[in-house]
Amino acid sequence: MKKETVIVGAGLVGSLLSIYLKKRGYNVKVFERRPDMRQTAIAAGRSINLALSDRGIKALEEVGIMEEIKKITIPMHGRSIHHADGSTAFQAYGQEGQSIYSVSRGELNKKLLMLAGEEGVELHFNEKCEDFDWKKNEARFLNTATDSYSTIKYDLAFGSDGAFSAARAAHQAQHDRFQYQQYYIDFGYKELTIPPGKDGNFLMEKNALHIWPRGNYMLIALPNIDGSFTCTLFFPFEGDPSFATLNSKETVKAFFKSTFSDAAALMPNVENDFFNNPTSSLVTVKCYPWIREDKFALIGDAAHAIVPFFGQGMNCGFEDCSVLNGLIDEYHHDWNAILKAYQAVRKPDGDAIAELALNNFIEMRDKVGDPVFLLQKKIEAAIGIKYPALWTPAYAQVTFSPHIRYSTALKNSIRQEAIMQEIMQTQDLEKKWAAGELEKIILEKIK
Ligand SMILES: Cc1cc2nc3c(=O)[nH]c(=O)nc-3n(C[C@H](O)[C@H](O)[C@H](O)COP(=O)(O)OP(=O)(O)OC[C@H]3O[C@@H](n4cnc5c(N)ncnc54)[C@H](O)[C@@H]3O)c2cc1C
Repeated sequence: MKKETVIVGAGLVGSLLSIYLKKRGYNVKVFERRPDMRQTAIAAGRSINLALSDRGIKALEEVGIMEEIKKITIPMHGRSIHHADGSTAFQAYGQEGQSIYSVSRGELNKKLLMLAGEEGVELHFNEKCEDFDWKKNEARFLNTATDSYSTIKYDLAFGSDGAFSAARAAHQAQHDRFQYQQYYIDFGYKELTIPPGKDGNFLMEKNALHIWPRGNYMLIALPNIDGSFTCTLFFPFEGDPSFATLNSKETVKAFFKSTFSDAAALMPNVENDFFNNPTSSLVTVKCYPWIREDKFALIGDAAHAIVPFFGQGMNCGFEDCSVLNGLIDEYHHDWNAILKAYQAVRKPDGDAIAELALNNFIEMRDKVGDPVFLLQKKIEAAIGIKYPALWTPAYAQVTFSPHIRYSTALKNSIRQEAIMQEIMQTQDLEKKWAAGELEKIILEKIK
């Protein structure tokens, strides 16, 4: 059995992985580039909150820490849609009782690190991974506080150092025919805040994910436990309007007032936040192989960074940990077999969720104003509600069905899209839909 395990990166996935491996009897050392976040405040404009859903929850339950994590989450039972005319509509998620959970990335990371420390994981901070010596099984770190280097020997190592992984770069540098692809979309994001009310109360519905869809861009807001909401503006870099055209405090203020009027009324500082907080880009990363013999694997964003339009990056990384844990049982700590199986199972799933997330972005960017597309979505939603056993929308398969692999969800969604494309060719579509005639045709096609 392998003993000495090194994890590079103590983000969400590295911290959770360390708990899993420690519980399985490994000596686990984690090396993180940043200072110990349990003792530092979260930087302004970097207060991202994330939607935790069933796949992530299942992985947290498996190591017995979901109850603890639940304390820092807020359930969101559905979407609150804020229309341009100021009206709102609530759409419950899927079936009765289905919710996703808002959690601050920083608070979740802190909590996971705390739990890892309590479990006996050795945590090292200010340690920036610079390289690996694959022959000697050593990782090299620069301590950014003391400016000194160290090399750490390992039996087993993981690269969980995020989308711009140094471990992956070292792997790539010394691997014949390593496949690597990165793809930036032409949209970026910016974080903004709706502060709490005077008594710390929520100024909008607390238990909802708020969305202001506006054609090819949108604002979303997730609740925080202090009564505030973290808003994210997903917005084009170029064009009009875009980050390029919102170039003064006056234009920002006027744009928010006219485009997101109800949100703007709750954001007294929007023009300052807009220029104080960074504009960040959104990237998809695919690579292969994820593993090196029985000694090394990439996990989380380091293996598969995706765009956030399905809210799955972290959930997918947590699911990686849970799959790996299942394989430890199946192959009795034989890491040659475990890592091969891990890659065989997770690479297609990582690719699938990357594609699903990008498709969702493309839908949002190109089709939300198209009345035919909107009618298609209306028909799909109605069929899904009436025949849940026959037609589960892609969102529900990804978010609420951890027993369905991402790759299966993608195949199902392609099949459903093909059926809908045929249906959408029907003569007098709207009339037939209103008369209930389409339903029969769709059911025949599904069966
Ligand atoms: C705007 C936005 C919204 C999102 N919303 C959601 C959501 O709703 N739901 C969801 O599931 N996911 C969401 N995600 C994705 C989620 O944030 C990521 O998938 C998740 O953080 C990945 O975790 P990770 O541990 O793999 O990587 P990271 O969180 O990036 O952690 C990597 C860690 O490695 C450290 N590190 C980096 N380089 C080195 C080095 N050289 N040496 C040592 N340490 C290093 C970093 O400091 C960091 O601590 C969102 C992402 C974005 C950008």
